[in-house]
Amino acid sequence: MSVSTFVIAGGGLAGARAAESLRAEGFDGRLVLVAGEDAFPYLRPPLSKAYLAGTVDRASIDVHPPAWYADQKIEVLLGQPATGLALDTHRLGLADGRTLHYDKLLLATGASPRRFAGPGAGLAGVHHLRTVTESERLRAELEGGGRRVVVAGAGWIGLEVAAAARGFGNAVTVLARGSIPLGSVFGDQVGAVFAGLLLAGGEEVPADVVVVGIGALPDDGLARTAGLHVDDGIVVDAAFRTIDPDVYAVGDVASVFHPVLGHHLRVEHWANAEYAGTAAGRSMLDQAVSYDAIPYFYTDQFDLGMEYSGYGRLARKADVVFRGDRDGRAFIAFWLADGRVVAGMNVNVPDVNETVQAIIRSELRFDPHLLGNESIALEGILAAAADQGN
Ligand SMILES: Cc1cc2nc3c(=O)[nH]c(=O)nc-3n(C[C@H](O)[C@H](O)[C@H](O)COP(=O)(O)OP(=O)(O)OC[C@H]3O[C@@H](n4cnc5c(N)ncnc54)[C@H](O)[C@@H]3O)c2cc1C
Repeated sequence: MSVSTFVIAGGGLAGARAAESLRAEGFDGRLVLVAGEDAFPYLRPPLSKAYLAGTVDRASIDVHPPAWYADQKIEVLLGQPATGLALDTHRLGLADGRTLHYDKLLLATGASPRRFAGPGAGLAGVHHLRTVTESERLRAELEGGGRRVVVAGAGWIGLEVAAAARGFGNAVTVLARGSIPLGSVFGDQVGAVFAGLLLAGGEEVPADVVVVGIGALPDDGLARTAGLHVDDGIVVDAAFRTIDPDVYAVGDVASVFHPVLGHHLRVEHWANAEYAGTAAGRSMLDQAVSYDAIPYFYTDQFDLGMEYSGYGRLARKADVVFRGDRDGRAFIAFWLADGRVVAGMNVNVPDVNETVQAIIRSELRFDPHLLGNESIALEGILAAAADQGN
């Protein structure tokens, strides 16, 4: 009797969680994790935060200790990027020239940083940040302090690197396209909160170290060349299925149909890799899956901790309601579109994310004055809106 072989291309968080869920759900066939990097799956968020700052050790960022994979009978091919995919013969090509047969394949190849291509791009001291090696290389440049650091890009990673670089005692300048950092994500009102954490930019800035944080692009080349449907990432349904019945995609690389929104969404955040990865494993076992999680992400910068849940595209045209102390950077912001909360962000207000998500999921109409009224607990506002059947 032949044993089924499931192959996962991409040894990041999504791939690791899918492998874990396959075993947890009873898959006892051959399971191969093809990892392009020479490292077992690890968490990337600390690479611009605690790991960059040198306050946590290398083992703490591993998704599982290396021995776990052998215990689970998961074959991990380290430093072995997949180089080709033949859908008709069910074979995945590897960098060393071998090919691997699969019965089912999951593409979890993630994303790569958008590269700075302008003059000076190749100079020593110009950094991008995606891998643990890049984080270690950057830390080595920052940890002595006293250097002039320029961060190109005021997105999450850029701002976190700026905070870590300041923490080491470097002079930091952040170059942003707009006047307000994260303005394109949150709108100017909320982005201004993050501006208060930064130094002002200049026309021409001398630099010892440059960190480029200008976004990421999905690593969808394998799928594209194989003839799968690729748009902004690999297009899959709410069960992570591509147009080929034996090939799935998940994580940063996947553009997943969202059943609540009614359109595809590619999410480049930790929570998506974590939970969608697990769900994709179940889908590969033909369990019923319809992934409808509300996109979520978090950041830590200086003394600011933030969580955001919601549908960014719907929030773009929404009104913002604040609850709490915006100037003191301890507040919740809600984005209201047509009276419905489509996104919520808690800044230095812990343990409310579940309620914020419940408010979004309820699809009830909320009175902005009530929502902003701190004398009423969030749970109370949710219950009141439900009672009124708004
Ligand atoms: C510095 C940094 C900080 C971040 N901070 C946050 C945060 O604070 N909050 C948050 O929500 N999210 C954060 N993220 C995003 C989060 O880490 C990603 O969403 C998550 O890592 C996605 O997981 P993934 O498994 O889909 O992809 P990845 O983590 O990119 O893993 C994909 C893996 O596949 C490998 N691969 C690529 N091509 C091939 C191939 N052909 N064959 C084999 N392997 C291949 C890659 O080398 C990589 O190891 C951060 C990301 C970075 C880089």
